[in-house]
Amino acid sequence: MPISKIRIAIIGGGVAGLIVARHVTSRPEFYSVCLFEQTDEIGGTWVYTDETEFDENQLPVHSSMYENLRTNLPKEIMQIPDFPFKDSEGLPSFVHHSVIRQYLVDYAKHFNLHPHMKLQTLVNHVEPEILSTGETIWLVTFTDLRTKLVKTKLFDVVILCNGHYTVGHFPQIQGIENFHGGIIHSHQYRKPENYAGRKVCILGASWSGIDIALEISKYGDKIYLSHNLPQPLDATLPKNIEQVPGVKSICGNTFFFRDGSFAEIDDFIFCTGYEFTYPFLSKKVEIHTRDNHVEPIYKHLIHMKMKNLFFMGLPTIVVPFPMFHIQAQYIMGILEGRVKLPTPEEMKEDFEREKQSLLDSGIPIRHINKLVDRQWDYYDEIAAAVHVPSFPPVIKKIYNYSNKMRELDLMTYKNYQYRIIDSENFTVSCRKGC
Ligand SMILES: Cc1cc2nc3c(=O)[nH]c(=O)nc-3n(C[C@H](O)[C@H](O)[C@H](O)COP(=O)(O)OP(=O)(O)OC[C@H]3O[C@@H](n4cnc5c(N)ncnc54)[C@H](O)[C@@H]3O)c2cc1C
Repeated sequence: MPISKIRIAIIGGGVAGLIVARHVTSRPEFYSVCLFEQTDEIGGTWVYTDETEFDENQLPVHSSMYENLRTNLPKEIMQIPDFPFKDSEGLPSFVHHSVIRQYLVDYAKHFNLHPHMKLQTLVNHVEPEILSTGETIWLVTFTDLRTKLVKTKLFDVVILCNGHYTVGHFPQIQGIENFHGGIIHSHQYRKPENYAGRKVCILGASWSGIDIALEISKYGDKIYLSHNLPQPLDATLPKNIEQVPGVKSICGNTFFFRDGSFAEIDDFIFCTGYEFTYPFLSKKVEIHTRDNHVEPIYKHLIHMKMKNLFFMGLPTIVVPFPMFHIQAQYIMGILEGRVKLPTPEEMKEDFEREKQSLLDSGIPIRHINKLVDRQWDYYDEIAAAVHVPSFPPVIKKIYNYSNKMRELDLMTYKNYQYRIIDSENFTVSCRKGC
């Protein structure tokens, strides 16, 4: 039993922050917990707003949710293991974002997380202080956005859950400064009706690029889905979507693509991903976030030199909610001494070995946090280290099946209904128009 409780600061009240809070508050004898959330609501990116620039506190709008978004994973695999969806049978598998938001509100209520939260409280600065014992403690400075009062508190552990789908990545494009049409990043995209009758170029054909192209195609005149994938998408698309290579340059409103073709464009939407940012972290923390990648982090979670600083949400192309559930328990295993971490040098060696083998296999550094097929081993490894259940095989099976359906038909894959039978088996049926 510790002499005094471990003081934990959680920064961010999205899914990651809520899941961490749920686990650490389950051991009140060990931990005192404060979750800081800058907005007045929990749910992070799942809190839809029509606003695209600034919120009521004049802070940049955090959420990147758009009005019609339905999940890109079936809710049967998104759900948090200890909190299944209520009324699961009545809901489609690919639910509207408002269902997820309500689910998170219910989760926070069920686990009584509100007493541990400071809403409308912006974390401005996180500063490490090294004690004479060699341990690092954390000075967290925050502003109560209602009263504007600024305070600093001491914490033993900081867990960063501030999300990484807010600050858009914009590749350089020659001539863009003279383009007279509308330019946004997918972070600011909200409604397809705004593009009625327009010629739109969407740059990037990952999840958002494709989803937004499909939505806008119902209203827009012509959609150019511009991307640098090695092959065009082999899927049936609406007739007014044309796949073109990446944008090479822009002259006035004429877009030149990499194959020499060109088109007149009214609106340009960057679906080119996001940047990892930690604007409140002291320079002493010495992280770098170049190339869509955060270092020096061990197991996608732990600062190698400061073992009481954790980064949630780094891996992408994963099943985030249940992954956070395992990561949160892994963090507790570390804090309670049940998981022994290697030395910083060993962690670095381990990380460099993995990084090099990925680079050798042709994966560029900006993609190494995309776990894709590596995700399952990752969950198994950290779950085993802390003796908690990993994902049952049925989750991987549904994930792979639903991805296959997406590859086969981008327009109908969200019409399938999944049902988990047991830890190995599921059924799939068609709700409408498969
Ligand atoms: C458009 C879109 C669609 C997606 N669709 C899916 C999907 O279908 N299925 C799926 O599983 N995942 C999906 N995702 C991924 C999604 O981001 C994750 O599922 C998950 O919501 C990430 O949660 P998070 O807690 O890490 O971050 P966020 O939800 O971004 O939450 C971060 C929180 O931190 C707060 N914060 C930030 N800085 C500070 C500060 N300085 N002080 C105080 N508070 C701060 C923010 O206000 C916010 O509430 C989607 C993402 C996007 C953008």
